[in-house]
Amino acid sequence: MMHIAYLSLGTNLGDKEKNLLSAISEIERRIGPIRAQSAFLATEPWGFESENTFLNAAVCVETRLAPLDLLHVTQQIERDLGRTHKSVGGQYHDRIIDIDILLYDDLHLATQELTIPHPHMYERDFVLIPLQQILNEEKRQ
Ligand code: AMP
Repeated sequence: MMHIAYLSLGTNLGDKEKNLLSAISEIERRIGPIRAQSAFLATEPWGFESENTFLNAAVCVETRLAPLDLLHVTQQIERDLGRTHKSVGGQYHDRIIDIDILLYDDLHLATQELTIPHPHMYERDFVLIPLQQILNEEKRQ
């Protein structure tokens, strides 16, 4: 069965544009075809102090992966692209790449490991602005 997932991407270290492009190409390779992609949006760090601004994007991807498998693949991509630290005690920090699952079909899920829709998506402009861009793009098609 095909599913539609919306993912949010963020990076604030190194060559940020290259990090986003690498993540998107890994998403295509390991998760499924990209149906829509937002522009890259430069934003201020949220929830922590850092001199490194973020570059954010959202993508809509078609996938056969179940939600937890999708999470495990996005986490593997994060690791492979060189993310070394996980957030500790809800703290945020600099990262090469962070991939969040925003939406998955019309699923509502709340488990220890995975909450969909993503619990903080509605409070964050860096998530909502790129997401709105790709939703508008789909409406026009
Ligand atoms: P972070 O280090 O900020 O990327 O947080 C990742 C943690 O959030 C992981 O351990 C996931 O199990 C958990 N998580 C819960 N819901 C989601 C979601 N919708 N997308 C990505 N990670 C999630």
